[in-house]
Amino acid sequence: DKYRAWEVKKVRTTCSYCGVGCQMYLLVKDDKVVGVEPCFSEPNKGLMCVKGRFAYNFINHRDRLKKPLIKKNGEFVEVEWDEALDYVASRLKKIKDEYGSDSIAGFASARCTNEDNYMFQKFMRAVIGTNNVDHCARLCHATTVTGLATTFGSGAMTNSIGELEKADCIFIIGSNTTETHPVTATYIKRAKLNGAKIIVADPREIELTKGADVFMQLKPGTNVALLNAMMNVIIEEGLEDKKFIEERCENFEELVEIVKQYTPEKVEEITGVKAELIKEAARLYAMSEKSSIVYSMGITQHSSGVEHVYSVANLAMLCGKIGKEGCGVNPLRGQNNVQGACDMGCLPDVFPGYQKVFVKENLEKFEGAWGVKLSDKVGLTVPEVFKAAHDGKVKALYIMGENPMVSDPDIKHVEEALNSLEFLVVQDIFLTDTAKLADVVLPAASFAEKDGTFTNSERRVQRVRRAINSVGEAREDWRIIKELMIRLGYECSLNSSKDVMEEISKLTPQYRGIDYERIEEKGLQWPVLDKNHSGTPILHVEKFARGKGLFKPAHYKAAAETPDSEYPLILTTGRVLYHYHTMTMTGKNEGLMNIVGEPFVEINPMNASKLGIKDGEMVEVTSRRGSVKVRAKVTERIEEDVVFMPFHFKEANTLTNTALDEVTKEPELKVCTVRINRL
Ligand code: SF4
Repeated sequence: DKYRAWEVKKVRTTCSYCGVGCQMYLLVKDDKVVGVEPCFSEPNKGLMCVKGRFAYNFINHRDRLKKPLIKKNGEFVEVEWDEALDYVASRLKKIKDEYGSDSIAGFASARCTNEDNYMFQKFMRAVIGTNNVDHCARLCHATTVTGLATTFGSGAMTNSIGELEKADCIFIIGSNTTETHPVTATYIKRAKLNGAKIIVADPREIELTKGADVFMQLKPGTNVALLNAMMNVIIEEGLEDKKFIEERCENFEELVEIVKQYTPEKVEEITGVKAELIKEAARLYAMSEKSSIVYSMGITQHSSGVEHVYSVANLAMLCGKIGKEGCGVNPLRGQNNVQGACDMGCLPDVFPGYQKVFVKENLEKFEGAWGVKLSDKVGLTVPEVFKAAHDGKVKALYIMGENPMVSDPDIKHVEEALNSLEFLVVQDIFLTDTAKLADVVLPAASFAEKDGTFTNSERRVQRVRRAINSVGEAREDWRIIKELMIRLGYECSLNSSKDVMEEISKLTPQYRGIDYERIEEKGLQWPVLDKNHSGTPILHVEKFARGKGLFKPAHYKAAAETPDSEYPLILTTGRVLYHYHTMTMTGKNEGLMNIVGEPFVEINPMNASKLGIKDGEMVEVTSRRGSVKVRAKVTERIEEDVVFMPFHFKEANTLTNTALDEVTKEPELKVCTVRINRL
């Protein structure tokens, strides 16, 4: 975009892509966003990645939804807002009256603001009358929320992004940080320059392995065995923090019993990682003063995902690396506001602030605040909603800013479920693959057109500011929800996003001290206990949020699918630097599409030569769920018998498995088995 410096207005806001939450300025000319400049503030200190810096053209893109759409005789017809809202309200009311509140479900959005998400779950609970509200955290960090809440008492990143630079040792497991959280990776690289030891455990040779002191290329899904073996070495060599364990933790004896069975030699067979490397990694982590663990979906997206998270927490507690600067367990949250959407209670078992729906005092608190009777029955998770839709138990689904037709495992199953519904509403900024299946599509404002807050990965609540007027007739998500509340007979006197935040802070203990004035210049990291409290950069300093830290030892369990003669290869999926999730936004950027414009499968040269496949050739990848045609990328980055596909394109999730983690219902997106044929 062409502009002169004096022609543009600069509006400070928060990047709407990943959970780093970079601060930036939108440059506005003639009510259009024409550029982006980084801001020299926490957490990015002037840095940004290619997506946040250059992929802003989706905001004013010609394909933005500009008017509500209702499907009539199989075709979308543009209608006025009143008609669309009246229609949605009347259909939801009819379904609720006929089949009951629990026949309706809603997916909130990690892309939307805290205010949007708060209003969404309030709508589902107080107006529809169900706890069937969930969102895509189910696919990324549901296992973190439960795993860390169980062991530490709080399911969030324990330390701050900036502290990584101060660490003496960083253990990166299941996180391709340079591609998925690029600005966070710069802190890791600076730590390395300061002399920190870097340990990487990943099935692929990611960029951070280049400077790593130890690289453990493990088989997908074997993290629990690897972590147990590291703990085995630490205990065997007396490197554990005895004082920390004694004073601050419980259930240590059970941990000793279990990890005793995981000698590095035995685990070498399971993981493919040499015993010597496991020993070296264990010693480096335990013996460094400030050791930090960074993880992401390589840990969480498994059918034993919650046990993967327990194991990470066990390792940190064993070495006393919690509650101290430069240490901690740091799950990098994927989407811009996935932390916030969880904080706001867009989960089927908790009100805002992780207050359980079935605890009497919580129920009474929210009934008092919202003035209605509420359900104490835990609602359905995303995968359970699809199953219930399939079985005819969920009749209506309201999706705000999510695209499960690309993001969820086994797309065919998702499509069948969505087609089984009596009524589907999708609220989004573009006509996504999911929106195409809807009965009604409501045009939502993008982040550049709304006020509110996002909470980044390190629990920092930051401002989002309106820079331009809404494109077409798009409206802020929370305002659309408010209109529906009123049409369904619920009084709502909240007139601005600021009003919504005031209600959030009254009801959410972690946000009690947050208001827009206080976070004007710099965000605050929750818990913010009152209006004078300056936030909490490091959790669990004196004691754990649950009192004592709980060791939750776990045995290694193989993935739901393991290679056999029919499907001999393991498929693992992940992100690339140039795209974001289902590409609703980055897919509109020509520059990024020129770099990565189509799906591909990474395959090791040994496998490629066995199958007669050359680099760049089209191949067919088949799993038990389906078959897709993609280009082969022959590369040493990936181990023999393992292949990788980016999940931004729908091809990957046509193949993935719906096997779930039993406790959290998070799907095993990281491991399934496939075969590859040359075309
Ligand atoms: Fe945006 Fe994340 Fe890139 Fe920062 S690192 S600019 S938050 S996508």
